[in-house]
Amino acid sequence: MTDDTHTASLVDKLERERTLSRGEFKALLAGRTLPGSAARLFERARAARRAVYGNAVYLRGLIEFTNYCRKDCLYCGIRKSNARAERYRLTRKQILECCTQGHELGFRTFVLQGGEDPYFNDRRLADIVGAVRAAHPDCALTLSLGERSRASYKTLFDAGAERYLLRHESAAPGHYRSLHPPGYSLRNRMRCLSDLRDIGYQVGCGFMVGSPGQTDDCLIDDLFFIRELRPQMVGIGPFIPHKDTPFAGEQPGGASLTVFLLGILRLMDPALLLPATTALGTIHPQGREAGLRAGANVLMPNLSPVAVRKKYMLYDDKICTGDEAAECRACLERRVNGVGLDVVVSRGDCACFTRASPMSEAFPAAKLTEVRSVRPQIHAGR
Ligand code: SF4
Repeated sequence: MTDDTHTASLVDKLERERTLSRGEFKALLAGRTLPGSAARLFERARAARRAVYGNAVYLRGLIEFTNYCRKDCLYCGIRKSNARAERYRLTRKQILECCTQGHELGFRTFVLQGGEDPYFNDRRLADIVGAVRAAHPDCALTLSLGERSRASYKTLFDAGAERYLLRHESAAPGHYRSLHPPGYSLRNRMRCLSDLRDIGYQVGCGFMVGSPGQTDDCLIDDLFFIRELRPQMVGIGPFIPHKDTPFAGEQPGGASLTVFLLGILRLMDPALLLPATTALGTIHPQGREAGLRAGANVLMPNLSPVAVRKKYMLYDDKICTGDEAAECRACLERRVNGVGLDVVVSRGDCACFTRASPMSEAFPAAKLTEVRSVRPQIHAGR
């Protein structure tokens, strides 16, 4: 039975040991609606963030440069089977213009995100990566381009990309299968993350909260997987259905569970970069503020040209598709200040990437056996 006292003791233990057993995570999740349990978790999560990052919130300028995709993930609005998606690609020149504008607005990280678009082969991408880095050597460049070969990841790293975001989507094999067409492989997803880490990228993984078929056990599989991978960033946001996908009629995920998980992740690793996602702001008007109050420390406003924003609809009713970049920047700064935090002009590297891992003693190898999913070896250590 979960009561307030029990969840309070679980929050204390999570703060102290940076992890819980499966049963304890289950009890903590079950107790999330008890009066006081979320408040206690968030208060500890904010303290953990403050100890590592102070009041800083980092901005990432998101450039959605292609919505072509060869894949057909069941939840995604730009899946290849969606004939109603109006496809576009930005040119090299347009991408560089987005970066120039972003730099003037104080962005020091650019995220190039797109579907798995074969047009953007290694040669074209490496050229763009090199050009962005040459134009803005004080900025970090993140890629979010889905599954590629190890050789491809290496080519792009050598060209100047330093970070890579690849949501793992679900560490529970059965649940992963239910989100994708037959033949899509969780093992390959894990292989990609493992390769990215080996090559030297700062790595981000993540998942949707409340996706069809997801249970608390699935979420705990995700937490254990994250504990094992030790990414530098974890992106989570509520599942929001898209009207032109097989999941059109499904219920969206909840803001409160998403925010609760942000608090858990912050306590699991105080050095994590944790975005308060646009999806969280879409599902609830104050969602991003709630995420920041729960321990998030990153926002990812859109730097794509306004003319293409509505075409990158991963889910319905996505916010911030009509505002110019400067308006978005000012709006977000007001929101960040409103919760007592500060937007900083900085690359915003993960604290764990510039100092010895604080987690090495918290997660001895023996605990990794609790991860149930099947995967190739994920290399430990940051
Ligand atoms: S989730 Fe990514 S890989 Fe899957 S269909 Fe959408 S853009 Fe393509």
